[in-house]
Amino acid sequence: MELVVENGVMAHAHPAACLFDLDGLLLDTEPLHARAWLEAAAHFGRLLSPAELMALQGRRRLECAAQVCSWIGEVMTPVPSREQLLAVRQPIAEALLVQASAMPGARKLVARCFELQIPMALATSSARQAVALKAAPHPWLEMIRTRVHGDDPELKAGKPAPDVFLLAAQRLGVNPSLCWAFEDSLAGARSAVAAGCQVIVVLPSDREPGHYPDQVRCLRSLAEVTF
Ligand SMILES: [Mg+2]
Repeated sequence: MELVVENGVMAHAHPAACLFDLDGLLLDTEPLHARAWLEAAAHFGRLLSPAELMALQGRRRLECAAQVCSWIGEVMTPVPSREQLLAVRQPIAEALLVQASAMPGARKLVARCFELQIPMALATSSARQAVALKAAPHPWLEMIRTRVHGDDPELKAGKPAPDVFLLAAQRLGVNPSLCWAFEDSLAGARSAVAAGCQVIVVLPSDREPGHYPDQVRCLRSLAEVTF
């Protein structure tokens, strides 16, 4: 991506480490998550808008559930508890998420990092069990051994707080400012910027760079990453 002069030769700069979001970045799960929230909220009588569904992206499940319950409460009483909402959503989500495919260029980029021995970590809002479910059809994800999950006992706050990326960098023993963080959601990009990472956003097809903080670099696909 960036060119540096090394011993008088122009060479591509390698990141000291790569921190990867999972949903919508490595795996094409966001439309599936959206459908599961949509169906679960509809079960309780509330139709979620595209903007509301977008606002849920990148955040932890319990925080999303609390948000959706409050939206349901705007139009319906009694309001379901988070647990009641999740009990409806969970089987829908599980059936959908096992079908998630890899995002374009994801597998190749992870394999390239592995080959170059660039340290990698997963920095995801998804809980450990949910990651296991989604990752099962994608053995290439096992190349990323260091992981921070949304329900990680050491994690204090979810995205957009910086904690997920700070903890991932800490586990790799790399200064966050030397890490390249790959994200797709606004909450995730804010989290990685707040952690001081160099942030690369892979734009969902329906979004423009203006949606994100100024500090991020935007790409249309992980296939555009070259090092
Ligand atoms: Mg994401």
